[in-house]
Amino acid sequence: MSTTVKGVIARGKGAEVELVDVVVPEPGANDVIVSVQACGVCHTDLAYRDGGISDDYPFLLGHEAAGVVESVGENVSHVAEGDFVVLNWRAVCGECRACKKGEPKYCFDTFNASKKMTLTDGTELEPALGIGAFIEKTLVHEGQCTKVDPQADPAAVGLLGCGVMAGLGAAVNTGEIKRGETVAVIGAGGVGMSAIAGAKLAGATKIIAVDLSDDKLQRATEFGATDTINPSTLGGDAEATGEDQPVVQKVQEILGGVGADVVIDAVGLPTTFTQAFYMRDLAGRVVLVGVPTPEMRLELPLADVFSRGGATKSSWYGDCLPERDFPLYTDLFLQGRFPLGDFVDERISIDAVEGAFEKMKAGKVLRSVVEL
Ligand SMILES: [Zn+2]
Ligand SMILES: [Zn+2]
Repeated sequence: MSTTVKGVIARGKGAEVELVDVVVPEPGANDVIVSVQACGVCHTDLAYRDGGISDDYPFLLGHEAAGVVESVGENVSHVAEGDFVVLNWRAVCGECRACKKGEPKYCFDTFNASKKMTLTDGTELEPALGIGAFIEKTLVHEGQCTKVDPQADPAAVGLLGCGVMAGLGAAVNTGEIKRGETVAVIGAGGVGMSAIAGAKLAGATKIIAVDLSDDKLQRATEFGATDTINPSTLGGDAEATGEDQPVVQKVQEILGGVGADVVIDAVGLPTTFTQAFYMRDLAGRVVLVGVPTPEMRLELPLADVFSRGGATKSSWYGDCLPERDFPLYTDLFLQGRFPLGDFVDERISIDAVEGAFEKMKAGKVLRSVVEL
């Protein structure tokens, strides 16, 4: 039997989101219904609402969620009723060419529920990132559920499902930051702040936060930044595009004349990527985790790409493997070694998502989390 519950949808490009009745079908053989306890508000939800992801409206928004398994399809063996789970959008298939090469973090065919949730008139909803969790109960594939320690606060561990894992993974998995290395992070929003906390966890000795907001920089020091730079306060040549960029020179000044071992661009603009490219030491690593838009173009002297060596990498979902990483970081959180709870700035009701978008756009919160 299907059930009807309240969920938050985006009906059309740029239109305010709506809280409506959503029909959740009975789970297919490998599907699971999860009673959602908490779901963070992510930039990607806003991007869906604004048409930046696709035009397949209406979308069921929300994807950074934790909850309890309520019912399972007949073939489900991965989780059971009553399990406390964090939802993921990388349920690796084990069969695609990436999985077969032993690189499941690039899985090209991740699992989603076999059925669609709908409006009461039967209109199929496209769930954000294959999840859709601003809803009382959601339908996902069993592989999208990762069991974690049930003692953890759902609002905090749900964030591992997307933004925090993206930044933390960019630092730890993609950037492979090692103890004693130096790190710079451009952008101190939710993802950048997670990268800063990840760099601290990895044992970086210098962690430089770069942001245009002094408030965010102050906060970055609480998450582990040892130094901060607000580029808007720097003099120097504003037209510079190479190693002579003022923010690059400031990083070198802090690090005794060289660049950082690892630089993470958590903004994703051609300008910030160019800063990141020159901000790293020779043979250092640059990690792009901020998401660019399709029209953006990058211009760099190819000779510099060659002569500076090292690596420029992109980080999708922090190169995470949910089954490996979600329980691990939940445990570190419960042990007080990773500040997952500090990302939760406010707890809101399910009818307050639109207002949370405004606060997010204004840079006022790391995360607003819907509690159900
Ligand atoms: Zn695969
Ligand atoms: Zn997200």
